[in-house]
Amino acid sequence: MNEVLNEKYSRQILFAGIGEEGQKKLLESKVVIIGCGAIGAASASLLARAGIGAIRIVDRDFVEPSNLQRPTLFDEADATAALPKAIAAERKLRWINSSISVEGVLADLSPRNVNELLAGFDLMLDGTDNFETRFLINDFAVKARKPWIYAAAVGSYGLTMPIRPGQTACLACLLESRPRGLEETCDTVGVIGPIVNLIASLECASALKLLTSQVEGSDETLTSCDVWSGRFQSVRVSRNRDCPVCAKSEFSYLEGDAQPHITMCGRDSVQIHERSRALDLATLRNRLAQSVAEVRQNDYLLRFRIPPYEMTIFADGRAILKGTRDPSVARSLYARYVGL
Ligand SMILES: [Zn+2]
Repeated sequence: MNEVLNEKYSRQILFAGIGEEGQKKLLESKVVIIGCGAIGAASASLLARAGIGAIRIVDRDFVEPSNLQRPTLFDEADATAALPKAIAAERKLRWINSSISVEGVLADLSPRNVNELLAGFDLMLDGTDNFETRFLINDFAVKARKPWIYAAAVGSYGLTMPIRPGQTACLACLLESRPRGLEETCDTVGVIGPIVNLIASLECASALKLLTSQVEGSDETLTSCDVWSGRFQSVRVSRNRDCPVCAKSEFSYLEGDAQPHITMCGRDSVQIHERSRALDLATLRNRLAQSVAEVRQNDYLLRFRIPPYEMTIFADGRAILKGTRDPSVARSLYARYVGL
């Protein structure tokens, strides 16, 4: 390691748990963060500063004013420009640490692109807001035998658990027996900044330990905390010997089709991806100009209002419709304004 890097990471090298050897490992590590909401952005910032050699951020969404209340990498200018989070994050992380490799990818993780987006990384971090994507990551991680770290927060409560396939319980061991569809979301009960920072910090501490090859019993626990009540808890999670994923190798999410519609956390909106195809945004803008009053555009997306809705269309054919949770409304507006 050269002198500049030695100086930059000197406090981390002094820390007995990492040292010079650990820092070298971090500089050679590749981490992919899936989802760049509040937890993903806070984790990305911590890991870029820690000198992770290569960081990829995959996110499907764009920056909005309601994101700024939580600790993100983004600012008001990003929200005004409606920059994709992956793109805005890449720019900010380059300013934070120019000596590492950073790549933002504007995409929605799905069975179709999961190999292309996640293969070749030493560790995957959960920054997502939905269980479909988490189970897809879990399937990929177990099949590839690569570690990933589950993390989530809602309200003042959050939890995280490192998952080392073959060694620890996987997400399906933890959640398979629980009823689905009952989880509260940031959309229904909100979320506050401190829990997001805390969970991202715990997730990144696990990441630093995993990447420097230090795994102990404590890593097999699900840690949950509530910053409002002050309750902290760590429970050991056992592997399920009948787990469909890590015991029986049934990868139903990897083999499945992408969800046609996904309701997103943090607002009243639906994502539409009828099919993946490249759209010529300039041509579409000209066409829309005949029927829609004001169409805003940047290099990555088009956005326009069809009161009471607002539609954002990405170059890969995806769209986010704000103002409804009804897939049939979304599908019909997409068909009318974008075409099928
Ligand atoms: Zn399992």
